[in-house]
Amino acid sequence: MSLHDETIALHAGYEPGNTEPMNVPIVQSTTYVYDSSEAISEVFDEPTKSLIYSRFANPTVMAVEAKIAALEGGVAAMATSSGQAATLAAVLNLCERGDHLISTGQIYGGTTNLFAVTLARMGIEVSFVDAGATREELDALVRPTTKLVFGETLANPALTVLDIEKFANFAHAHGLPLVVDNTFPTPVLCKPISWGADIVIHSTSKYMDGHAVQVGGIVVDSGRFDWAAHADRFPALSTPDESYHGTVYTETYGAAAYIVKARMQLMRDFGTYPAAHSAFMLDLGLQTLALRMERHSANALAVAEYLAAQTGVVSRVIYPGLAGDAGYDAAQKYFKNGMASGVVSLVLAGGREVAPTFMDSLQLVNNAVHVADVRTMVLHPASTTHRQCTDEQLAAAGVDPGLVRLSVGIEHVDDILEDLENGIKAIS
Ligand code: PLP
Repeated sequence: MSLHDETIALHAGYEPGNTEPMNVPIVQSTTYVYDSSEAISEVFDEPTKSLIYSRFANPTVMAVEAKIAALEGGVAAMATSSGQAATLAAVLNLCERGDHLISTGQIYGGTTNLFAVTLARMGIEVSFVDAGATREELDALVRPTTKLVFGETLANPALTVLDIEKFANFAHAHGLPLVVDNTFPTPVLCKPISWGADIVIHSTSKYMDGHAVQVGGIVVDSGRFDWAAHADRFPALSTPDESYHGTVYTETYGAAAYIVKARMQLMRDFGTYPAAHSAFMLDLGLQTLALRMERHSANALAVAEYLAAQTGVVSRVIYPGLAGDAGYDAAQKYFKNGMASGVVSLVLAGGREVAPTFMDSLQLVNNAVHVADVRTMVLHPASTTHRQCTDEQLAAAGVDPGLVRLSVGIEHVDDILEDLENGIKAIS
């Protein structure tokens, strides 16, 4: 039976038996007990079949992993204690010192820093490229050491829509996997795997949770990339792992080779696994994700239309759900019914100087360094999330110094619009 997202979000990952709890139980235990010393020894030969320790597997977290894998159409997933940890794991599962990856420039500021600073310190080089680059420009970036291509399906905060097919075709032509961050659209609005992405990551701290109650991330494996066919480039997946009983991941785990390797090597060694309680909170959020994404998108479109009409005060509105936006056609193609999620950016004609007045005149809308919550929030990226960026880096990330990011919540739209009107009046 092929289920819809609304149903998957309620039922996938956990099936209660007779008299068992309807909600996924919070298994608040680091450890698991075995019948005998022999039983515990056997688990080390095949750890994916049982539970050893909650640093890399826990039943509550596993239920959420299965649910998100089902929503994305992947074979398996590995949850992490933050979105940053998910990005790091997705990259380090393929790259080591001396390797290289290609990323679009239009990505989350924290990811830019991870790639440009921290990965560089670890000896992994990143080439940033404009998401609108031609195929020739992309081809020219590939090196023998290149291990993956990275992009954000709906970039935070630039709100550019990734041409997933273009990047998947490019990556695959060079025997590379496409890794995408699908945090902003969520699988409800966009299914990157169906357009050719190989690995999908998320900050689950955002819409998946939706209520700002836990920080988390996840890496989803499509199971489609043929690592064995590209064994020269990815020997770690298809030759014995001496740190793990000589396991050859592609032989033992087939389509799930990538995600099992991530869990058995990286999660084992780094231990960035979420707590069971966080996974339980995330699961509650997921149950209403489909409903919320529709309301977020409808409210955001109304806000974008209102702001676009404030000519003179607002010089530009960026929202790919808005007709005429640079990302409109791509949003129509890649996002369910063209719904473009809840984040709207506006550039104030008065620039950086008027941003504080605008923001401080809002009463309902919260000032917060967060997006994707049920409550509407506002942020000035150039003085906060992108504070560390030079003007050149700001331009590359598509962030104007006068850009204000609104994360439109699910309040009644009339109340949001009335509050925004206060802000617009204050700077008119
Ligand atoms: N990816 C995107 C698109 C984000 O917006 C964020 C955080 O804002 C992250 C990754 C990092 O996630 P986290 O804050 O959960 O570490």
